[in-house]
Amino acid sequence: MPARVGIPGTLLYYLYFPVWETFFRNIGAEVVTSGKTNKKALDYGVKEALADACVPIKLYFGHVLNLIEKGVDYLFVPRVVCLNGETTYCPKFLGLPDMIRHVLTDLPPLIDVRMDVREGTGALYRAYSEAGRALGAKWPAVAQAYGKAILAGRRFFALLQAGYQPPEALEIFKNKSAVQKSPGHFHRNKTELVFAILGYPYLIHDQFVSVGLLNKLSKMGIKAVTAENLPAKPLARQPHILDKRLFWTFSDLAYKATQFLLQRGGVDGIIHLTAFGCGPDAMLDKFMEMLVKERSSIPFMSLTVDEHSGEAGMTTRLEAFADMVRRKKGAAA
Ligand code: SF4
Repeated sequence: MPARVGIPGTLLYYLYFPVWETFFRNIGAEVVTSGKTNKKALDYGVKEALADACVPIKLYFGHVLNLIEKGVDYLFVPRVVCLNGETTYCPKFLGLPDMIRHVLTDLPPLIDVRMDVREGTGALYRAYSEAGRALGAKWPAVAQAYGKAILAGRRFFALLQAGYQPPEALEIFKNKSAVQKSPGHFHRNKTELVFAILGYPYLIHDQFVSVGLLNKLSKMGIKAVTAENLPAKPLARQPHILDKRLFWTFSDLAYKATQFLLQRGGVDGIIHLTAFGCGPDAMLDKFMEMLVKERSSIPFMSLTVDEHSGEAGMTTRLEAFADMVRRKKGAAA
């Protein structure tokens, strides 16, 4: 019987699941996911995680508990440090396997390989080899699975860059569906609004914790573009305009996405979705707001979500923001 490897359906799942799934499947394992976030996962997480953890980390605990209930043989909880050679994931990502081990009991073995491309050529391959060895896979199978995983990752990122949001791209990946016409990024008719929604992919694309933010915008006839849809190279080449470079990967990305969008234009409003209890966001949010105000007249709004966020509050704020953007646009026309 193949080993059942559990992958929590949150945090980097939204960006790297196709890579991880392809790797484990190709070394002969069965991949089990925790499914979409729901009230049970949130309640589990709130109960079990450290009290002062941010909502996404609480949710991660909930997803892990869900996988334990499903009886997986292994849990894949990588220690993802740096994947671009420059910035580092937030300390909570670095300490994820330790937090899980420290707080939860009756865990299956953790595959907690460290991923840090700054450790030299082949660092990522070595991490995957270690994961493969934990499951008893031999090197030819590991090398082949790694090659396939990298290709799957490239195909997935191409979908994001074509304008699909991660959940849509994941559906295409999982169901091996044919790729339809690209949704595009900024294409719109004359009356349609385009909002940039910036922030953590594990908040924006989690229907439950974001209280359906992207769906609500779509129902309001507003097109959403996220950092995942923006072209990677121009984004990476954005100059560092702060006195000190933002250290954390997602903060750096959100700030560069703001810079890029202000230069490029094509968006009518910018929303920064932040997590209650997130240290990096406390600073980043102010930096983003100042940048938008200094360089443009584009309306900017921060939305903070926590474990108590509700439908009504989110809808009211979105509607008020959209009305304000429409009025402003109408006055400028
Ligand atoms: S970046 Fe913020 S929201 Fe994300 S895990 Fe770290 S503290 Fe939590």
